[in-house]
This record gives sequence, structure tokens and C-alpha cells, in this order.
Amino acid sequence: MDYKGVWTLAELHEGKLRAVSFELLARGKKLAEDLGEELVSVVIGKHIPDVALMELIFRGADRIITVMNEKLGDFIVETYSNILCGLIRERRPAIVLAAATSSGRTLMPHAAMRLHAGLTADCTGLTIDEVTNDLLQTRPAIGGNILATIKSSNHRPQMATVRPKSTRLLQKDTTRTGEIDHVAFALEWFDDRVKKLGTRIDEESHSNIQESDVVISGGRGMKKAENFKLLHQLAGHLGGVVGASRDAVDRGWMKYPQQIGLSGKTVTPKFYVAAGISGSIQHLAGMKTSDIIVAINSDEDAAIFYVADFGIVGDLFEILPLLNEKLEQEVKT
Ligand code: FAD
Repeated sequence: MDYKGVWTLAELHEGKLRAVSFELLARGKKLAEDLGEELVSVVIGKHIPDVALMELIFRGADRIITVMNEKLGDFIVETYSNILCGLIRERRPAIVLAAATSSGRTLMPHAAMRLHAGLTADCTGLTIDEVTNDLLQTRPAIGGNILATIKSSNHRPQMATVRPKSTRLLQKDTTRTGEIDHVAFALEWFDDRVKKLGTRIDEESHSNIQESDVVISGGRGMKKAENFKLLHQLAGHLGGVVGASRDAVDRGWMKYPQQIGLSGKTVTPKFYVAAGISGSIQHLAGMKTSDIIVAINSDEDAAIFYVADFGIVGDLFEILPLLNEKLEQEVKT
């Protein structure tokens, strides 16, 4: 099959590249190197200057393909899918990766269906089969209890989405060079059946938990919603935000946007505190790549201690007030 190259789909927000665009390049780089092929970043949107696009090259892309037009300011899946399918049919990449964001999760199945290509959602691992050069796409399956590796040997391109925040960025190398192909927007790509009437932010799900350097999470061990104020206090002292296990969310103590784990968000903060969280495989899937993990748990055998850098065995209702008190004193002195 005459398909070559690894493509990653960059995302634009208010004229700026989202960090996830660079995370995808970190994933794609290794694949492109193993195949000995080009790594391409595809940017679809209203406008972004070439100087800003260079960041994609500094972070690993060999080539950038852009399609820019006034009509592309809003993400309308039909139009974006027309563009993506048009580019793929013409240039025939072997692999196309997108972020498992709301737009990535909408665009990729739409395009995969039209291209008769396979799509694996929410991958946590991507490697190349040394014998066949197929993309091996690994993702949690059956409630996160197993990891399934999926390949689409008979179809190209091989398409996958990757969870945001599940990859570290490549070092920025400003000596790297690459090509930028500006593809003219073809009017037939524009689908005017869907019109955007306006934007309304859902305050409940508008959370910066994935952007924060400090995340303080609580689980069933917090016992009731009111006790989360201990975590809010700690987060306040450390300039962080509060997260939760699914158990705490299911009990209504915290809202779903704060849920961390397999069926919630993935976070990679510099500092993660897990208080009264046992460390189920599903919870770990959302936080184990944090830089420093502190676990507070009364059960010394709790699984969370296996991933923790610092473990405090004890009653969180004694430990958290002590921590808060100590930090308060620090602020005063
Ligand atoms: P528990 O496992 O009950 O742990 C509570 C912990 O608190 C215990 O370790 C206990 O020792 C400790 N504790 C109790 N009292 C105190 C105290 N006073 N001081 C200190 N420690 C104390 N879970 C997620 O978190 N995120 C997900 O996204 C997610 N997705 C899932 C998807 C699927 C398909 C499935 C099947 C499950 C998913 N789960 C998820 C649920 C997961 O399997 C666990 O049930 C959940 O993570 C448990 O939450 P927990 O650690 O708060 O509660």
C-alpha cells in the first residue's frame, strides 16, 4: 500500500495552538522515526501566522500543512471532515493521530467512516510493528482491566486518538527547520448545513484541572462532601485545584469535570495529592504520570502507595488539618 508519513492534527483556540498539538508531535515523532518517514502537523482554522506555526517544527514536525479561511473559525465537523478527507485522499498518510478532545473525538470517527479506515480511540500506547510496519494501538479495555492492542492491517490510513496530557512534550529545538504547505481552501469543502448561533460556556464543566501544576484529590476516604473543604484549603495554600476519584463523584461529593481517571480526565501536574484514594487501576490511569505523587491513606497496603513518591500512612482527618495549619503558619512568617 502506497501510504507514507505520520500526521498529527493540531488544534487552534482563539488563534493560538493548543498544547495538545505538541503532545501529539511527541507521540508521532517516535513513530515517524521508526518508519523512517515524515512527521506532518495539519492545522485547520481561521488564521495563525507562520511564526507561530514554527513552534510545531521546533517541537518535532518536519512539515506543516495548513488550510486557513475565515469560514473555519468555528469547528463544524462536516467542513473540517471534508478538508481532512480531501487532504488524506490526495496525500495518503499511513497514520493520522488526533487528540481525544471533543473536536478530535468528533472529527476522527466522521473522517474514518468516510475513508473506510480503522480508528482506535483513547490510545495510551502507540508503537510500530517491526515486521509489518503496522501501527500497534494500545488502549485500556473491559473497564480498564486489560490493555488491548489493536491494528488495522488492511486499511489505510491507520487512525487513532490519544488522551490529552498523557504524553510529555519534546524539548523545543529552535534549530530545527521544516516546510510549511499552505493549501488553499476549496469552496466545495464548506458545508453550510450547520450554522453556529453562539457560544455558551458550561460553568460546571469549565475546569482548569488539566492545566494546573498542583492537583489535590480526594476519594471515598473523605467520607462526605463537606470534608472536601480540607482539600480546598490545601489547594488554596499550594495554588492548585481539587480533583476526585470516581467514587467521590458518584456519591455527589464532587462534580464530574473534577473526576480523574479512565472515565474522567488525565492530569500530569507537577504535584498530585491523593487523599483517601485506594489507587484503583482506573484512577491510576488518570494521574500516574504526575511528577510528584503524595498519597495519604490509613491502609498501608493501599495500591496508591506503589505509585506514590511520598506516602503518609495515617488518618487524613488528622494529617490534612496539620498540613493546612503548617502551611498557614508559613504564609504568616
Ligand atoms: P476506595 O477504593 O473505596 O478507597 C478509599 C480509600 O480511602 C481506601 O484506600 C481507604 O483505606 C482510604 N481511607 C478511608 N478512610 C480513611 C481515612 N480516614 N484516612 C485515610 N485514608 C482513608 N475510578 C476513578 O477514580 N476514576 C475513573 O475515571 C474511574 N473510571 C472507571 C471506569 C470503569 C469502567 C470502572 C469499572 C471503574 C472506574 N473507576 C474509576 C472506579 C474504580 O474502579 C474505583 O472504584 C474507584 O477509583 C475507587 O475510588 P476511591 O479510591 O475513592 O475509593
